[in-house]
Amino acid sequence: MLVGHLGAGLAAKAAAPRVGLGTLFAAAMLLDIVLWLFVILKLEGAVAPADFETRHALAFNFPWSHSLLGALVWSLAAAGVWAWTRGGGRLLAFAPAVIAATVFSHWILDFLVHPPEMPLWGPGAPAVGLDVGQPLALYVELAVAAVGLTIFLMRVPLSFARRASVAGITLLAAALTVFGAYSSAPPPDSLTLAAVSLLVIFLIVAAAAVADRTPQ
Ligand SMILES: [Zn+2]
Repeated sequence: MLVGHLGAGLAAKAAAPRVGLGTLFAAAMLLDIVLWLFVILKLEGAVAPADFETRHALAFNFPWSHSLLGALVWSLAAAGVWAWTRGGGRLLAFAPAVIAATVFSHWILDFLVHPPEMPLWGPGAPAVGLDVGQPLALYVELAVAAVGLTIFLMRVPLSFARRASVAGITLLAAALTVFGAYSSAPPPDSLTLAAVSLLVIFLIVAAAAVADRTPQ
């Protein structure tokens, strides 16, 4: 999932306009940032299973980045880092709560679309995932993105040009998501996959930070 997570970040921006959109996009995709870093470090894995050509979905071994307990820890950690660096040290405040919720929204959205491969607390733990299947997973993701973008466009007081830029970034990510859902090209090795994924996430976060004039 890609653009669905951005939808959560866009809605979060409407809730907490003084938090930068780049920060909120990074928060919404934090579990994947951790995943791909851990794939590079060989702490987690992402491989193309035998049914990749029909399902277009990788199989993941991600007990640290995408377990329920892990997601809660990353959510709290992200809120803590923001409170410490930008929030005057106040963790129990609205903006850190929005950041924690944005990070955790990633787990909920992934839970809808992944097969039961998301562990509850770590390696060997029972794993969950609703696996709604395609094309429903894609429709859910695009709907979440559309709702998030609509809320953002209606509620965030940025100039027309800045809001149009954010809409453009979101549409590009939606196009990438649709391409990923239908492309049957075999993915590259997991190191290349991790590097490309991190680069895409970095470019999206950087573009959002530039489009939003709020200090990140
Ligand atoms: Zn994920």
